Amino acid sequence: MKQMNYNKGTGKCLNWIISEEHFLPKFQGKCETIFCLGNGYMGLRSATEESYVGQVRNCFIAGTFNKSADNEVTELPNAADMIGLDIIIDGDRFSLERGTFSNYDRSLNLKTGELIRTFNWKNSDGKEFQFTFKRFVSLAERHTLVCHFQIKPINCQADIIVKSGINGQVSNSGAQHFEEGEKRVFDKEYIQMTQLTNQSRISFIHTSHHKISNNYSELNPRFELDRRKILTVFEAKLDDGQAFELTKVSNLFTSQDNDISSVNANDIQKFALEQLKIQSKKGYNQLLEENILAWEERWNFMDIKIESDNDFNQLAIRFAQYHLFIMTPKHDNRFGIGAKGLSGEGYKGHSFWDTEIFILPFFTYTFPEIAKSLLIYRHYILKSARMKAKENGYAGAMYPWESALSEDGEVTPVWGAIDIITGKATKIWSGFIEQHITADVAFAVWQYYMITDDHSFMEDYGYEIILDTGIFWASRLDWDKNSNSYHIKDIIGPDEYKEHINNDAFTNYMAKWCMENCLYYAEYLKKEQPEIYQRINEKIEIENYLATIKEKSGKLFLPAPRDEDLVIPQDDTYLNKPTINLSQYKSQKHVGSIFRDFNLDQINGMQVSKQASVVMLMYLLEHKFSHDIKEANFKYYEPKTLHDSSLSLSTHAIIAADINHLDLSYSLFQRAANIDLGPNMSTSDHGIHAASLGGIWQIIVNGYAGIRMVGGKLRISPNMPPEIKTLSFSINWKSSVLKIELDHQKIILSNLGEDNVQLDLMGTDVSLQKEIVHEYHYALSKTTIVEQNS
Ligand code: BGC
Repeated sequence: MKQMNYNKGTGKCLNWIISEEHFLPKFQGKCETIFCLGNGYMGLRSATEESYVGQVRNCFIAGTFNKSADNEVTELPNAADMIGLDIIIDGDRFSLERGTFSNYDRSLNLKTGELIRTFNWKNSDGKEFQFTFKRFVSLAERHTLVCHFQIKPINCQADIIVKSGINGQVSNSGAQHFEEGEKRVFDKEYIQMTQLTNQSRISFIHTSHHKISNNYSELNPRFELDRRKILTVFEAKLDDGQAFELTKVSNLFTSQDNDISSVNANDIQKFALEQLKIQSKKGYNQLLEENILAWEERWNFMDIKIESDNDFNQLAIRFAQYHLFIMTPKHDNRFGIGAKGLSGEGYKGHSFWDTEIFILPFFTYTFPEIAKSLLIYRHYILKSARMKAKENGYAGAMYPWESALSEDGEVTPVWGAIDIITGKATKIWSGFIEQHITADVAFAVWQYYMITDDHSFMEDYGYEIILDTGIFWASRLDWDKNSNSYHIKDIIGPDEYKEHINNDAFTNYMAKWCMENCLYYAEYLKKEQPEIYQRINEKIEIENYLATIKEKSGKLFLPAPRDEDLVIPQDDTYLNKPTINLSQYKSQKHVGSIFRDFNLDQINGMQVSKQASVVMLMYLLEHKFSHDIKEANFKYYEPKTLHDSSLSLSTHAIIAADINHLDLSYSLFQRAANIDLGPNMSTSDHGIHAASLGGIWQIIVNGYAGIRMVGGKLRISPNMPPEIKTLSFSINWKSSVLKIELDHQKIILSNLGEDNVQLDLMGTDVSLQKEIVHEYHYALSKTTIVEQNS
């Protein structure tokens, strides 16, 4: 039986609903992840209320990193479970694995973030019950989590016991992060449990309130305490047709929160209780209403309308935006986005280049204040970056490959998956030598600046990042006598199937860009804003490095396109390596299938890539490469790329559209959209593919609508595959909001701001005052303009 259904929404809910129509415990991971709830402060993986083997019950609070033991890396600890329910009917624990069930449906409404599960269940005695479970994590009030449970006997009576509370008997795949804390009951109604992380000493304060409504409202609960657990227990005799309804309102605070005035656990406990009293009085519906309003405000701006031959495309972009939104700690600029958001234990909550290169553009164009917060996080991380540079004998800021908090430094684990040849764990070299992130962060700062014109951000944070990363790159180069140029040796580029290589094209070009940008802004500041230059100089002594950066950036070796075919060597040796027949891996069902046959050393020796690398370079620094070079490199590298990282497909889809391979582009887009939503039921077990979701947004906006910032300027040049009929959405560009509507005949650009916007519209410089309707014979040639009104 098909488990997932994405066509359930009708009317106002059309293309807003993702549903599971059948429950199979072996595939719990997928729905736990894709139905994840959250608000950027809290991420709640959507495990079912009742427990099953293999279930992963996760609740994460952004930025609460803890190192459970000396030999572990820091990670986001899994907070106590506040959604679990033990339901005992006539003495037997309710489980869908016993008895029979029908009319099963679990649906997440992406518009409201509400998750609802309903079904009928018959126990082994043939008694039938109708179940409904509802829950949401409030977007209006970030500490609040609300659940509702209803059970109704059909033509029967039954004894029921419901145990619900706060259960700290959880771990991160066995790693325990918390010390046993205080447990309390207040007013015979509210329960509270406090736990302390064992290394970072962060207090987590969980408080819950239960309310029975309607038929059984006179029931008095009892309370049970256990190790790391406090429960409210209700017992009732259920009458035929009489629904038993339980509403549970909970909140979660930590001593690290930036919206409470005290870091003292006792103060927070009191505050949490007061807040819960207010919130629980409102009840499920009012709290839901507040949450819906908060979502509405966001969707009003971020919704992208897609008409296409497949409704799934509309749903897929909303799914991506929903998750991008709930994973992002927009409330606190000390924290970044984890590679799996807040939806699973994968990658331990650490931030990678995934944020700057894949996710940030969505926020920069849609909610620039959130993009700013994410970049300020990178300013905090300068502390780690400087520490890492120093430890490695370099100058300036060398960003950790994986980051947690500012003081954590490099947090990439050292050992990874099993090596099929040696039988030992493979060493993860990324934390040592995957260094392009230092250029990626600087690039994202500049991209944000060009799109927003946010001068005060640059003055307070941005320039310092740009200058300090420039210093790093100059210190990272090695002189090569033979070629009379500087090289970057012993590196990993974005293609992690090539380790310890020299002159990775992506890294070298980005490093050069970074140094040149550093020089440009240093000169600019000196001249135009000397007091800011002075302030930064006092901190990082940029003045002492400028001459070196100039000399070195001028002599950094850049792998040039080959004369015969315009292919840019991915690194010094890639093009000399043997090729193998990759067809079985290209058509693989599960990523990484090549590792069943080869180990990383062997893969290192072949022309096979994990993900976009030179193709990524063509995207980020597109103004440096001609259309022909783009095309030649896409055609050379794509067939050798296994897309074994979820970060790969979106970049390839965009470049394929740029070079007019629209069929291929569309199929890559479909594959990207299916990474989490698709029929493979285990791809998302460890959490959502955050970067890929950002990539999906980029395919639509930067790829198909062709909205790009190129060399500081806005360029709009659509490349829509025929399957996509129309697109309509808004973006922020500097101080303006631009509305973009396009189909295959025309594009309508509306400027909702006061200032004229200068842009390159399909090769023509235009000034957008209020509205431009630009018509074209898109299907014939995108450059044939038949009429232009402005
Ligand atoms: C990819 C990296 C990515 C990381 C986290 C790896 O598999 O190769 O590019 O940053 O996953 O998503």
